[in-house]
Amino acid sequence: MSTTTAITRDTITEITRIQTYPRGLLVYGIYYIFAQKPYIVRQRHHKAKYINTMKHSLRKLAYVSGLLPFYHGIRNQRALTVVLFHRVLPEDAPEWQAADPEWTVTTSFFESCLKFFRSHYNGVSFSQVMANHLDGEALPPNPLLITFDDGWNCNLRHAAPLLRKYHLPALLFVTTGAVGKHILSWQEALFALWKTRTLDEEHLQSLSKKAGIKLPASLESEQDFEQLLTLLQELPVARRRPLDDLLMDWSMDLPGLPYMLNENELMEIQDHGISLGTHGVSHDALVQTDSPHDELHLSWKDLCRITGNSTPVQCFSPPQGRYNKNILKIAESLGYVCACTSKTALNALNGRNTGILDLGRINIEQPALSDQNGKLDPSRLASLLFRQPILAA
Ligand SMILES: [Zn+2]
Repeated sequence: MSTTTAITRDTITEITRIQTYPRGLLVYGIYYIFAQKPYIVRQRHHKAKYINTMKHSLRKLAYVSGLLPFYHGIRNQRALTVVLFHRVLPEDAPEWQAADPEWTVTTSFFESCLKFFRSHYNGVSFSQVMANHLDGEALPPNPLLITFDDGWNCNLRHAAPLLRKYHLPALLFVTTGAVGKHILSWQEALFALWKTRTLDEEHLQSLSKKAGIKLPASLESEQDFEQLLTLLQELPVARRRPLDDLLMDWSMDLPGLPYMLNENELMEIQDHGISLGTHGVSHDALVQTDSPHDELHLSWKDLCRITGNSTPVQCFSPPQGRYNKNILKIAESLGYVCACTSKTALNALNGRNTGILDLGRINIEQPALSDQNGKLDPSRLASLLFRQPILAA
């Protein structure tokens, strides 16, 4: 009896084990995937981090060993490098509260960039570039042209003294409609209002009503802000214009105003070896305005009047970096000889004396070029500048 019972129990246990085996395997499989997934993700993350560290070490080694600078000295000897800055502010300036870090650098970061330029380049003025283009005059080896867009008054207060200290000339593109104004344009006003948390639901309702479109009811995240900016940017200029005034009015109390150079300051900044070019009247993208011809022509006339300079303005920078062949054609018909664009490339100059120069430029962004202490990492800047493609200007 007892033997029979034992056999029966064993048999039942065995049958149960066999029957539940596939189910157990499935359960174990699911457990394995879920338990191991974070491990796999962690491994991937470690791998990416490891690759980044390796890349950074190699970049640093290439720079510190002199290999990358040597390569640059030979490869870019005849290529013009044009760099682009916007705002330059001391670390403790009140303007930082409303400034966009993507388009602003600290004075100490800027000074480190100038030291870097002095070590690896020969700074050239815009008139030297023109003399090369129009008369075939030779440029020094590894030439570099420093440019600024928009016409922020910090360029005179903080950038110009440093440029003078390091004997580096520059070229500044002025948005003539913003001369002497408190802020550049509606986009900057919108960003500054959002960053300082000034833009509330009431403001958004007013904008929505005036624009005749549905806008986000509140701006909780950066995505909400980007969505609002895109919606307003897509509006036809004539429909958006009334909103510009609202945004400009609301931004009258931002910290550290005014931000833009006035007429006297534009005269003064030229004494620091800074030439002037135009950046449109309204800062609207030339490809979007009703009359790019007027933007280019009127900004030229404004600049001639402000400076009292009979020498015609020869160069422009398309606002928001947006341009096409038609814009270049219009500019050329108006007498412009050069456009400094946002095409990320170095420039092969050959003194052809024909056609408008389309100069590529490289934007200098502090967050992407800094070490963990916010200081310039020269190997990152070298890596950004020295290996860009060289295109015919
Ligand atoms: Zn601009």
